[in-house]
Amino acid sequence: MATASFDTARRETRAVPPIEKAPEVTALSRLPGRKRSLVGLSRADLKQALLEIGVAERETRMRVSQVWHWIYVRGARDFAEMTNVGKGLKAQLADAFTLDRPEVVSEQVSRDGTRKWLLRMAPTGAHDHNRGAEIECVYIPGDDRGTLCVSSQVGCTLTCSFCHTGTQRLVRNLSTAEIVSQLVVARDALGDFAGQMPSKDGGEVGRLVTNIVFMGMGEPLYNLDAVIDAVAVMSDQEGLALSRRRITVSTSGVVPQIERLGLEANAMLAISLHAVRDDLRDELVPLNRKYPIAQLLEACRNYPGVSNARRITFEYVMLKGVNDSDADARALVRLLKGIPAKINLIPFNPWPGSKYECSDWERIDHFSEIVFNAGYASPVRTPRGRDILAACGQLKSETEKLRARARMMLEEGLGAEGFYAGGED
Ligand code: SAH
Ligand code: SF4
Repeated sequence: MATASFDTARRETRAVPPIEKAPEVTALSRLPGRKRSLVGLSRADLKQALLEIGVAERETRMRVSQVWHWIYVRGARDFAEMTNVGKGLKAQLADAFTLDRPEVVSEQVSRDGTRKWLLRMAPTGAHDHNRGAEIECVYIPGDDRGTLCVSSQVGCTLTCSFCHTGTQRLVRNLSTAEIVSQLVVARDALGDFAGQMPSKDGGEVGRLVTNIVFMGMGEPLYNLDAVIDAVAVMSDQEGLALSRRRITVSTSGVVPQIERLGLEANAMLAISLHAVRDDLRDELVPLNRKYPIAQLLEACRNYPGVSNARRITFEYVMLKGVNDSDADARALVRLLKGIPAKINLIPFNPWPGSKYECSDWERIDHFSEIVFNAGYASPVRTPRGRDILAACGQLKSETEKLRARARMMLEEGLGAEGFYAGGED
């Protein structure tokens, strides 16, 4: 909140919500009396954990790589599976730690094969009233890839006017382990760990999750330390083994952090642009008031490693009558001139209470033709998992909604009975 006075002044004149950074709340690794899970830890943190239970410094290298292999290659859920780890150490590990994943509260499978999991994180204490925060994570199977859309925060402090996540009240950063655990849970659920899916000829079939997009809940660049470490764990070739070129971090435009993302995570960059003029972008993506379009595009031009082979994706949500004219399309290609770019047109996914509509299909077609004729492949992102509210920008935990409703009813004097009798939100 470095620019509180700026934000306040703007808020008064334009009645828009404040721009905030995520609170400095991250999951504590354990509550008193609760064993810590080793799942999702970075190599450095795993080493630290082993030192804590008395493993000698000179042994840690070997022990870390053994345990690492069991957790991230084999998906072990029990220390007893770790056959090459001595009996004594296995017992010590089991005494001090667990291999727990976040709890899968629900799994929904869409008609098109998209899966959405609601995950409950271990309780962190006061901030979540010891209940454990909930986040969502989505798997989208494709012809030549399987993409996992992960969350970086519980909720989001930014308030993009078309995004459901931005309306969620409870916000905190996820830890590295909580981010990585989303991939572990997906591999568990899909049988996607080594040895779990033998092919007909007895060899291993290809992995189902091949790509990661940080396009779930939250603004990844407001939790950059954890995101950088999570990318390192996910791309560790002796572990989860994804390619960094297949990990994309999407940001609404936190300009000062963009360079660091490139230098330290070496991940692919996606920018939620959505408008070609500052006045409109100010409205759709309020962070634009702090970092306007020109500054954002300058940071893109300077993104470490950007080239025609490593293009930046510009996301553009199609909002009927708002940003979808031919003039907007022409301005978009003019704006991106000189930046190695891909343009991703996203049909707006409506959510209950949203004030926008998705552009008509002919309009999207026309818009994409202008972009295509200017030399950009402009895939329109096919809406996936719409029947389970799993599409972009729709993620918001059900329980958060229900709790909000319970609160409202309590405030209105209806009490808990009204809440439970109320059925779906
Ligand atoms: N906070 C980051 C990443 C998460 S949002 C960001 O904003 O980039 C992932 C993408 O979904 C962003 O491009 C976002 O603008 C888009 N999005 C949000 N709400 C949407 C909605 N209702 N319909 C379509 N896309 C949406
Ligand atoms: Fe946050 Fe991204 Fe949604 Fe904006 S679009 S409110 S930055 S999650």
